[in-house]
Amino acid sequence: MTRQTISVQQCFSWATEITGCQDYQTLTHVFINLLKSFNWIDAAVAYEIYGDRKKRTQPHRTSEEILIRKLPLDFSNDNERDSCPLLNNRPLPNHIEIVIADGKTHAILPVITDTGPDRAIVLEGIFSDESLTLLGNLLKLYHNQVILHDHRERDVLTHLPNRQSFDTRLTEICEFYQQEGLSGTPDHKLSWLAMLDIDHFKAVNDNFGHLYGDEVLLHFSQLMEGKFRYIDFIFRFGGEEFVVILNNVNKSEAEHGFNRFRRAVENFNFPLVGKITVSIGVTCIQDHNILPVTLLDRADKALYFAKENGRNQVVLYEDIVNMQSTINHPDDIELF
Ligand code: GH3
Ligand code: MG
Ligand code: MG
Repeated sequence: MTRQTISVQQCFSWATEITGCQDYQTLTHVFINLLKSFNWIDAAVAYEIYGDRKKRTQPHRTSEEILIRKLPLDFSNDNERDSCPLLNNRPLPNHIEIVIADGKTHAILPVITDTGPDRAIVLEGIFSDESLTLLGNLLKLYHNQVILHDHRERDVLTHLPNRQSFDTRLTEICEFYQQEGLSGTPDHKLSWLAMLDIDHFKAVNDNFGHLYGDEVLLHFSQLMEGKFRYIDFIFRFGGEEFVVILNNVNKSEAEHGFNRFRRAVENFNFPLVGKITVSIGVTCIQDHNILPVTLLDRADKALYFAKENGRNQVVLYEDIVNMQSTINHPDDIELF
């Protein structure tokens, strides 16, 4: 395809497509599909890159630990190493870069913003000067839209996906389990919803001031990014409350994962503030008829139980229900 063959109408059509998306996920799917529609592009994959040392200084991380999240996300996928060798162990370029690897030509399209993680689209194909110019122009459009979506879908302080993104994602996950008809015992590999609430956070603000409180929230979010896997989803729910959706693990793996994070928080030295702890309420997304609001309520009940019983612990809603097995309607447990 050359520049001469692209009509003004075609340009407007692409612009309308790219600017008409409701959220970042949709935008990226639309953009990837648009790129794939060119006959000189054989493959297009989008990645989110975590552990960017330029913005988030985490000296304990090695370059191997840079996590790369692949889009479209597949939360049934167990392959933790599903990352892109082209992006590993090399800084993201500032402009479109052509890389030849394994006898194939790739174009790396970087998307670097101050509003979210670094991202890149990796293409495989044949790239003429004209096609690179076109890619550059399309990338500018996409980049601007990513920033707009980040402002709406991410939390300003931590840059984690916000409450609104969580609502959308939880609905998606529930629909996934409904469509697949997946349900069963908690021993199967399923998704787990957890509410995390920092213990006695008000005291941090009272003793050290709001700015240091914000600093704690920032470190806490970075610990989350470092400790959970790329196939899990993390959100700032609001204030000192966060949400994690752990995917594709059984009950004991989920408990282990959340306890590992709880201990990481317990052992972390928050600058000036020192030690803080977190309480975590967890429930299983196992019933394919369950409503997102019910799941949230269950995780919240488990969190409340953790708070009432000493804090700094992980509580599973299903465990408390088992403890109360004489009660017919678990959602109406008086205990809470
Ligand atoms: P608990 O262990 O029961 O959770 O006690 P807590 O003190 O953490 O809970 P509480 O809900 O009483 O207090 C939460 C505090 O979080 C109150 C509010 O001022 C503070 N907070 C909420 N959002 C922010 C924020 O964005 N920055 C800062 N610094 N503080 C915040
Ligand atoms: Mg709270
Ligand atoms: Mg709290």
